[in-house]
Amino acid sequence: LEETLIQTQKLDSLGMLAGGIAHDFNNILTGVLGYASLLKSTVPETDKMYKYIDTIEKSASRAANLAQQLLGFARKGKYVMTKLSVNDLVKELASFLKETFDRSITIVVETEENLPPVEGDSNQLYQAIMNLCINARDAMPEGGRLYIKTEFYLLHDEKVVDYFQIPPGEYVRVSVTDTGVGMTADVKKKIFEPFYTTKGIGKGTGLGLAMVYGIIKNHGGYITVYSEPGLGTTVRLYLPKGDGTVEEKKGDKAMIDERPK
Ligand code: ADP
Repeated sequence: LEETLIQTQKLDSLGMLAGGIAHDFNNILTGVLGYASLLKSTVPETDKMYKYIDTIEKSASRAANLAQQLLGFARKGKYVMTKLSVNDLVKELASFLKETFDRSITIVVETEENLPPVEGDSNQLYQAIMNLCINARDAMPEGGRLYIKTEFYLLHDEKVVDYFQIPPGEYVRVSVTDTGVGMTADVKKKIFEPFYTTKGIGKGTGLGLAMVYGIIKNHGGYITVYSEPGLGTTVRLYLPKGDGTVEEKKGDKAMIDERPK
């Protein structure tokens, strides 16, 4: 429990630090971006300068994008909370993933019927679950199975897993499981820290799970990670159950991956 607290406090202070830096950077970059496009408009496209200015603009825009992601971790992003159906989110995401992920990855979706709603920001939650799926894909370079599951989860007793101390209560639980490379205990300890990545320069930013952490905390939720090197990983998001019910969209998409192999 002591360690859980220290880990959480570490992440929260990292979040405050990162948020402060990201905020200042964002302001600076707004200036760089603005003047770069102004300058670009004064130079003919055939001019050698045009390409240089264009590169400045593109780089500044990439940096602004990074700062934006960091703000997500710092829990300073804008949130629009509504009563939403996590099943709808998951189904929409799954059909997008079926179009974009390699066919060597089989996507299996299991959504519980009559799932209670969640009070949340649908774009942020979509982003969080997507980040988990991207990590799952990256963990399976040779292909494998990606499971996305939703369920109502009644927690009777407090549960302590790594970073999180989950109080008893009613949750909507989203689980993303892969049959990929898994993680060692050492790696698992650091995965929520911003800029921690094992994917190598140019491939990973190390911001994916930091964002997930920020988003889920903002929703009053919790995260657990189970991973076994060589076997795979399951990341679970616990989102507090919202009040009442929510109408799901009609037109159930196929739950099993039907893409030709
Ligand atoms: P990035 O994806 O840019 O590396 P993340 O914050 O999303 O950043 O992930 C941090 C690290 O956590 C990854 O580099 C990887 O080592 C580990 N990781 C995350 N998800 C998984 C997974 N499903 N299987 C194996 N390792 C994972």
